[in-house]
Amino acid sequence: MRNRLQHFINGEWVDSTGSKTIEVINPATEEVIGRISDGTQEDLDKAVAAARAAFPSFSQTSKEERIAMLNRIADEYEKRKDEIVEVITQELGSPLSISEQTHYNLGLAHYRQAAVELENFEFTEKRGGAVVRKEPIGVSGLITPWNFPTNQTSTKLASAFAAGCTVVLKPSELTPFAAILLAEIFQAAGVPKGVFNLVNGYGEVVGNGISSHPDIDFVSFTGSGAVGQKITENAAKTIKRVALELGGKSPLVVLDDADMSKAAQIAISNVVFNSGQVCVAATRTLVPKSKHDEFIAAVKAILPNIAYGDPQDKKNVFGPLVSEKQYNRVQGYIQKGLEEGATLVYGGPGKPEGLEKGYYVKPTVFANVKNDMTIAQEEIFGPVMSIITYEDLDEAIEIANDTVYGLAGYVVGEDSEKVQKVANSIRAGHITVNNASMEFSAPFGGYKQSGNGREWGSYGIEEYLEVKSIVGIG
Ligand code: NAD
Repeated sequence: MRNRLQHFINGEWVDSTGSKTIEVINPATEEVIGRISDGTQEDLDKAVAAARAAFPSFSQTSKEERIAMLNRIADEYEKRKDEIVEVITQELGSPLSISEQTHYNLGLAHYRQAAVELENFEFTEKRGGAVVRKEPIGVSGLITPWNFPTNQTSTKLASAFAAGCTVVLKPSELTPFAAILLAEIFQAAGVPKGVFNLVNGYGEVVGNGISSHPDIDFVSFTGSGAVGQKITENAAKTIKRVALELGGKSPLVVLDDADMSKAAQIAISNVVFNSGQVCVAATRTLVPKSKHDEFIAAVKAILPNIAYGDPQDKKNVFGPLVSEKQYNRVQGYIQKGLEEGATLVYGGPGKPEGLEKGYYVKPTVFANVKNDMTIAQEEIFGPVMSIITYEDLDEAIEIANDTVYGLAGYVVGEDSEKVQKVANSIRAGHITVNNASMEFSAPFGGYKQSGNGREWGSYGIEEYLEVKSIVGIG
């Protein structure tokens, strides 16, 4: 049992001022695996005060000192690999292989990348007669979701540290143990006291407290649109800058010259990955009308070979959903798809046979989906694919953009002009062509209701900076 009832404030583990606790559940077994503190406003105030006190000196550290610190963090992170993988598998339900290959590696990549970015990052520049200085924005409040426990936290933390900001982190109460490990890693890496503070708890208290706190200068939030809106409203009272990384309903456009079997493979992997609990999941699959039957046949041939189930089994590609609430939400959408007249091609309601314990769902594919159906418009956050047909490229682009979201887009096909046209025309912040790998030096973030921030690489560091012009000095 992991009982971690203390917060990490000013370089040490401290008791909560409250006595309430939150149980953390393993979604594969439905059993309690530990407890954390239900943090209070007083806990948060202490953490903010520590971050404020540490800011004057940390903000003055040199680029070289911060590069060294980021690399020490990455070194310590590497030493804790087995624990990180185990914790993520337990609290998120991600299979061991994915916890290692994706979750562990993503977290690590952000610290290493931030150190690389800093090497060439210019904090001052000349503009005519002015000197422009980029200065750390101040105490930053970081609020993160559960679906990538080391990625979402680490991209924010690495950028904040690189910029010279001190932070207060509130991770998701569903997956808090990975963030607790990060605190230990920072301690071992010699992060100065007060630079990193961790307060666990619910959004209503600690999260709300962060967005409305007069001594927090900037909030970086990853999560749902509804909470993002609330944070923005709260932050407006103190004119706090807010960066939002929200949800998506991303299109994957299959061109008519694509190999349908390869395209189906790419489409499936971008829907079932992390049990579909991915902000950039490619949940709307746009297929040429003429290729519809061939594509469906390919999907049906591939899906039975996707192993899923017990996260402790390394051969599994995905495990359960994170919680009962998430399970019910996804079941509701599958039901809605049936009610609205989409054709069920694979999967469907209920638990998969043999996986009655745990929050498992069947990978599910709907065909004959119209883009105005609920399952094509709302973020499901489960392994549910909606196949939508199109007549020509212009219609594909129109459907791709017919959404309130704009986080990601995907194109699969050969003709480079067509690929380019689709990639340029999708109004979203991150486009992947033919399953290319991620590029950590390039920006990541959304258009429209998918958010207004940019993370990763130098763009991520810019978010934690204010810009000052000084005229009249050489
Ligand atoms: P959520 O919005 O419910 O919670 C996110 C965080 O906000 C949690 O730590 C939660 O405790 C906290 N919170 C809840 N209420 C709050 C409040 N009133 N004030 C401040 N904080 C509050 O989201 P979730 O269910 O944890 O995550 C899923 C969502 O996150 C999906 O919509 C997904 O698309 C999105 N997401 C986006 C990205 C991205 O980079 N764009 C990445 C991952 C997840």
